[in-house]
Amino acid sequence: MMSVYDDNNVFAKILRREIPCQPVYEDEHVLAFPDIAPKAPVHILVIPKGRYVSVVDFGARASTEEITAFWRAVAKLAAERGLPDSGFRTIANTGLNGGQEVPHFHVHILGGRALGPMLAHTA
Ligand code: 5GP
Repeated sequence: MMSVYDDNNVFAKILRREIPCQPVYEDEHVLAFPDIAPKAPVHILVIPKGRYVSVVDFGARASTEEITAFWRAVAKLAAERGLPDSGFRTIANTGLNGGQEVPHFHVHILGGRALGPMLAHTA
């Protein structure tokens, strides 16, 4: 299980501004930017600024303030784009089976089209 935070992951570099992104939201605890390989007309990544590997790490260790700021940002970004009316999806991939590529907790906000079934394959 990934539990030790890797300071060389892509999102850590984005947070240090070593890799560019086009921020669509930023506050003391949160940064959000478009995914480099969008899978839907709207595809935004929301990340905490703290060093959290996964949703489990974030849920276990983040402060109430960080957790509140994170989910408020997700809600605001979706609402600003009118996604709640038509529907959309939030995804947090975790670890190997979850297909997590970047080991810094993030939520994908996907919308702007019908997204189809939740998973590509059934059990
Ligand atoms: P995961 O598979 O970890 O849930 O998702 C990682 C996401 O980060 C992928 O959708 C990938 O396209 C995106 N990504 C990887 N590198 C970069 C980057 O340098 N910039 C941006 N904006 N997105 C990235």
